[in-house]
Amino acid sequence: MRLANSAAGRHWRAPGQVIEIARTLQQAGFETWCVGGAVRDALLGVAHLDWDLATAATPTQVRKLFRRTIPVGIEFGTVGVLDRDNLMHEVTTFRRDVKTDGRHAVVEFGASLDEDLARRDFTINAIAYDPIDHRLHDPFGGQIDLNRRVVRAVGDAEARLREDRLRALRAIRFAARFGFDIEHETWHAIVGSAPFLTRLSPERVKQEIEKTMEQVLAPSTAFARWRDAGAFASVVPTLAQVSDVTLRAIDALPRPGLPGRPLRKCLRLAALFSDVGGKQTERALRDLRFSNQDIATVSALVDRWSRYAPNLTATLSAGILPDAAELRRLAAGVGRLRVAAFVRLAAARWSAAGAVQPLLIRRLHRRMLTMAFREPIELADLAVDGDDLRSAGIATGPALGRILHALLQLVIEDPAVNTRQALLAIARHLGLPSETV
Ligand code: ATP
Ligand code: MG
Repeated sequence: MRLANSAAGRHWRAPGQVIEIARTLQQAGFETWCVGGAVRDALLGVAHLDWDLATAATPTQVRKLFRRTIPVGIEFGTVGVLDRDNLMHEVTTFRRDVKTDGRHAVVEFGASLDEDLARRDFTINAIAYDPIDHRLHDPFGGQIDLNRRVVRAVGDAEARLREDRLRALRAIRFAARFGFDIEHETWHAIVGSAPFLTRLSPERVKQEIEKTMEQVLAPSTAFARWRDAGAFASVVPTLAQVSDVTLRAIDALPRPGLPGRPLRKCLRLAALFSDVGGKQTERALRDLRFSNQDIATVSALVDRWSRYAPNLTATLSAGILPDAAELRRLAAGVGRLRVAAFVRLAAARWSAAGAVQPLLIRRLHRRMLTMAFREPIELADLAVDGDDLRSAGIATGPALGRILHALLQLVIEDPAVNTRQALLAIARHLGLPSETV
């Protein structure tokens, strides 16, 4: 006897609008179930916004039954039904795969619920729920796996991952998100899939990395599996040997959250790449088709971390805060607008490595922000500009730029010299002899 097929006694229900949609379809004679992530999450006691429905009705029949629909993906059988509050619910016709090529499937309608569930990736994602009778249909033992906390492929793991290699990365993401293990055969199939992940489009791989950063509280477990399975070696070779400390730094940074917070996402990415240097990071992110803005932000952070981390970490590990001039040099090198992000990245790395006392990190953070915003660390902060130097008789040209930079270095060492009078005197001294020859 299968207790697993009853939802009785559970305290959750599908949202009212979803029940309404299911009722309309069922009353028209079409078997209809809730499927996928929402059912899984309800059983786990986690809120889920998108309740997807699966139905025996064809897309044309679905569109006839509802006043407002959106053809989300008609060829795959998906129609969006808008409810009273303009929320869209995806209603997808039961389907079976007739052909797969490692990513894309050709689907056929006229399938049964069981056939539809059989083409889903993992048992925990293949549980159907009737929102009207409050009944579960779980032919692959998804609830048992939820209770045992394992991700297991539906049916033959090797074959299912061969059908669609993206499932290898999805399995890892779901396991990390829920703190689940990966069942042995499924893990074996993931490792076997790694060499073929190169066939996934870079956009897909990027999307999996982003979803992992967004959905998973502690992404280190996911990315350690990417590494151990050989997925990084295939799709982001520069991370093939990424260390556990590096990965744990990601966990120390907050999730991007919804709606997207671009800096949070970039910080987590910077932590992931923090050991490979700015150039490699830039290349890897470009290959993965990240936006130019993300590439610039992340690779600049990684570049500054790799330049300044060795000295800074050594000083702070000895319990010492760098002196004011050193901090100004650091703030100038990192860039005023990047200081806060840099310190957050550094703090994540240090806390992952247990290298620096949290109190010292907080003091560093405060001091660097003060330096960055109150003291002269950029050319624009100098008490003189190019025009002033020209009026003082210094010829326009590359030498003038060099003089301005030299002045900035002096001012960073000692902000007291940042007066017009002092700087012009120094500039004349630096500039006139060679310019007047
Ligand atoms: P999330 O909370 O991340 O959205 P989800 O389970 O809803 O989790 P989706 O990617 O939205 O995941 O997919 C919805 C459902 O469609 C899954 O639960 C699964 O049943 C099925 N599915 C999605 N992608 C695949 C795939 N590549 N192979 C097989 N089934 C899949
Ligand atoms: Mg979903």
